[in-house]
Formats: sequence, structure tokens, C-alpha cells
Amino acid sequence: MNNGYCTPLDITQIEENFAEIHPAMSPAEAGVEANRCLYCYDAPCMHACPTHIDIPSFIKKIASGNLTGSARVIFDANPIGATCARVCPVDVLCEGACVEKTLLKKPIEIGRLQRYATDHVLLSDRQLFDKRESNGKSVGIVGSGPAGLSCAMYLARLGYDVTVYEQRERAGGLDTYGMAEYKMSQSVSLAEVEQIAKMGVKFLLNTMIVGTKDESKNGELQDMQMVAFEEIKAWHDAVFLAIGLGATNGLGIQGEDLTGVYDALEFIEQIKTRDWRSIPLGETVVVIGAGNTAIDAATQAKRLGAEKVTLVYRRKEKDASAYEYELELAKKDGIEFLWQAAPLEILSDESSSSVAGLRCERTDGSREVFDMSCDMVIKAIGQHKQFSFFQNIAQVEVDETGRVFVEENMRTTDAKIFAGGDCVNGGAEAVDAAQMGKLAAIGIHHSLSDERIAFAGSAIPK
Ligand code: SF4
Repeated sequence: MNNGYCTPLDITQIEENFAEIHPAMSPAEAGVEANRCLYCYDAPCMHACPTHIDIPSFIKKIASGNLTGSARVIFDANPIGATCARVCPVDVLCEGACVEKTLLKKPIEIGRLQRYATDHVLLSDRQLFDKRESNGKSVGIVGSGPAGLSCAMYLARLGYDVTVYEQRERAGGLDTYGMAEYKMSQSVSLAEVEQIAKMGVKFLLNTMIVGTKDESKNGELQDMQMVAFEEIKAWHDAVFLAIGLGATNGLGIQGEDLTGVYDALEFIEQIKTRDWRSIPLGETVVVIGAGNTAIDAATQAKRLGAEKVTLVYRRKEKDASAYEYELELAKKDGIEFLWQAAPLEILSDESSSSVAGLRCERTDGSREVFDMSCDMVIKAIGQHKQFSFFQNIAQVEVDETGRVFVEENMRTTDAKIFAGGDCVNGGAEAVDAAQMGKLAAIGIHHSLSDERIAFAGSAIPK
């Protein structure tokens, strides 16, 4: 490892490597692309979007020069529309369903058009939605990731006093801390948070919600306020849990505590600081796992300056959970792949407690054991479910895999508590979490008032 601490590349080179992979469209490009759209009736792209944004409508508004109106259509159905424009797997969602893909072999660039319209509003600091006059009721939201932000925005539109509890120093959850830097910088997510804060939503940062009052008294953490869940429940008329998933799973092999072993999400989070010189980086990096997070970690280690990055996975390439286009990107970035190899032990030098290699066993039937040298290992084999958090909330039922059980309106087995996002679906896209946040806001409103409402892209619950 470069003494374990820094990139060999100069800052200009790194800035170039982390330039946005899908750059902004010029007005001329956006005009041409918007005019290619057929504005389909019952558009398949709209069905394929989990938040059901009225895509033909927002594209038509771009074509007619009404960018604010276009952004309004987007944010009306998805409060994190600017984030999703950059990080959504559009190839398998809206663009994958576009009829132009079948007719002309090239789908409309919906993601980039969405970005074009939403940037117009975020950059001009324009406020699209206001809080309705207060209805005197309050909702506490635990977690400020995509599900929490979405729920907060719709509840504010309905007149609720909303407080979002977030344990980190910045709001936005994975949108702020977990997206590959070449897809999206923190500023986009924070601008969306700001839009929601301007609607009167209160964000209590550096605030950790713990299961019991005892924990909140005993577990002092530096600069962190700890609040018991039972207090949150008592303070508010309803609570929405959007706590996501926990830390990356351990490998359960020897050597996991050596210097130079990192959790993929922690590694990605450090990159988000853009303080390139302070990010630990090996010369020869091994990433264990083959999901989208593993790809993000591998490609970013390479772009940061690692000489060689190898992705190790126990199954075959066809079994990898990463999207095909993500695997293609990794290949273009020069990532090497070692399929059908399971890690047995992380090795160290005799003289130090730092990573020196990885011992693996072939899973192709040969069971051959071999060593590969490396000076950094990044674990990316999925995240823990939040079992321990729910142990202290007896009324909220969790299934055997650790996912919170919810009804169609996102209500848990406790009538006052709703849940959504990764803690419910076990880990999906930000856009799926945004939709759950919307449905939860409607579910909460229907449980606290007689008014029956729907938002863009939501079905009215029976
Ligand atoms: Fe336009 Fe394609 Fe959607 Fe049809 S399916 S409305 S062409 S983006």
C-alpha cells in the first residue's frame, strides 16, 4: 500500500477520473432529444418508473421550453428526481421500456432529460411546493435517506409538522454518502434536502435513535445526541421508519481485522469527501463481492489511482447481482475479475499487521487453494439487516430475513408506526425507496384524517 494512505495520482488527474459519467445536456441537445419522444399514450416508460413520473408530460414541457413546469411534473411524483436522474438504472427501468428502443434501437435519454429539467430548478433555487397550513399534527421520521426525504416532502405538503432524525452530520442517507462520485456529487442530494427543509421540515442531525431509554442514557457518543425510540413515538402522532440497512456483512474469515481491510460503504463514503489525499488506497486492491456496491468500490479505487483492482466472486459472472452495464463499466475501467473463487483467509506480512494477500479456494469443483498478493481488501458482500434495532420495538414485526413487515399503506404491525425503503425491501434502488416514502405519507394521512388523497404516481389505497 502507498504507505496505506494516498493516491499516486495528481489531483487534476483524479478530478478528471471522477468527472460525471453522464454529463449535463446543452439546451440544443435537450431540445433535439425531447422532440424525438413520441409522447406515447399509456407510456410504457411511465409504467416502468417505480414512482410513475409522467415522463411524456415532462419531456413535452422541455420541448416547449417550460423547464420549471417540467421539473414540477418530476418532483411531484419523485421528491428526489434530480438524484434519480443520475443514479437510476434507466437501462432496466424507463429507458429499457421506451418504445423508441424497439422502433429505432435507441431509447429516448430520459435520465439525462430529467436531469436537465431538475437542474434548472435546483440551480435557480426555485421552490416548487409549499407546506400546507399546519394541521396541528406531527410526524417523526427516523432516517433521512430517499424514503425519509420523500415521506417528509409529501407530509409537509399535507400540513404536518415533520421532524427528521438523522445520525449523520448531513442529511440524505445513501444519496449523500453512498453514490459513486462519477455518477453524482453530494451537492445534488444536499440541494434536494434543502428544498425539503425550505418547506418547513426540521432536520435533527447527529441524532441517533436507540431502542430504549437506558441505551440513550448510557451510550454517550461524541457529538451525538441519543434519543430513545419510545420518546419519539410519544412525541409524534405517527412515526415513519426509514432506517435502511446496517454495516457491510463480515466475511467470517481470519485476517478480517488487519490494517488495510475496508467496508465498501465506508470506502465510498470517504470518496464523497473529495479529500483525495486522505483516502486510504492500496496499490493492489481486491474487492470481494459482485453487486453494484462492489462495482462502485472497484471502479472508484481504480479511478483514485490503484494500480490493479481485482473483483473476487465465488460464483460465475452470470450469477453476479450487479447490472450488466455496471459490469461493462468495470471492464472498461480495467478491473480484473476472478470468478468462482471464495476467500479463505486474509494474509499479512510476518512483520506487520497489514494486509499482504488473500488466500482463496476455487469453487469450480477443483477446490484448488491459491494465494494472491494484495495490500488492500474491500468487503462488499451485502449489508446487515437492523435486527438489533427492532428487538427493542416489540410491536413491529420483522420477518425471518430481518425485513420489516408492512401492509400496502406501509403501516407496520404497530398502528402508529410506518416503515419503508431498504429496511422493508431488503435493499433496492433509491427510486423504490422514494415511492415507499410517498405511499407511507398517504398511509399516515389516511390514518390521521378523514381526507382521502393521492399524489402523482400513487394509487389511491382502497
Ligand atoms: Fe417518449 Fe419513449 Fe416514453 Fe414513448 S416510451 S413517451 S417515446 S420516452
